[in-house]
Amino acid sequence: MTSNQYVSPAERGILIVLSGPSGVGKGTVCKALRGKAPELVYSVSATTRSPREGEVDGVNYFFKTREQFQRLIDEDQMLEWAEYVGNLYGTPRKFVEDTLAEGKDIILEIEVQGALKVRQKFPEGVFIFLLPPSMNELQNRIEGRGTESEESIRSRMSVAMEEIRLMEHYDYAIVNDQVDLACSRIQAIIAAEHCRKDRMVNKIKHWMAEVK
Ligand code: 5GP
Repeated sequence: MTSNQYVSPAERGILIVLSGPSGVGKGTVCKALRGKAPELVYSVSATTRSPREGEVDGVNYFFKTREQFQRLIDEDQMLEWAEYVGNLYGTPRKFVEDTLAEGKDIILEIEVQGALKVRQKFPEGVFIFLLPPSMNELQNRIEGRGTESEESIRSRMSVAMEEIRLMEHYDYAIVNDQVDLACSRIQAIIAAEHCRKDRMVNKIKHWMAEVK
């Protein structure tokens, strides 16, 4: 299959959303997952925040000005977007839709408000909430990154508390106690989701229809 060839609706890829509070290690887990699960496609978000040291435009994020970001929203090019600690973050829509239509699984690593918006548009998606081993550990991780001001740390912790309360809207919750284990759990969830009866029923209907 060429990369531009679309598959039947029954064979569409699975949209996986990995979310959870800032500092829980979503980025680290996603990075480790890239090495362990190269068959997954990773969505690159757009943001108005400035690049951190070592971050590359188009790889870590598409770095945009507020005006450029607003234009993307106005042109309906964002699947979802959210304001988070003073910056805008969003998922470019076309890349996600094309990837699913090609039959490939795609993973979005996004914060909670955005994840809930994606849930409304893609109720069939798989929503995974990443939890810290404890709230103390979460605060240590946010402080330990060393890139945030005191005000930003306070703000990120209070957002985190609110976000954890929204866990009930997710399908799965996993504790990020060890990155490798968290990756294995995500891979196990994706494998199980591919075997869900509802997804298989659609596939089998399609196969049956092809029998002459
Ligand atoms: P950071 O500035 O630490 O890279 O990211 C801050 C937060 O924004 C993280 O929780 C991250 O998961 C989230 N984020 C990154 N990309 C997106 C996106 O496209 N949409 C939404 N809603 N959140 C995002």
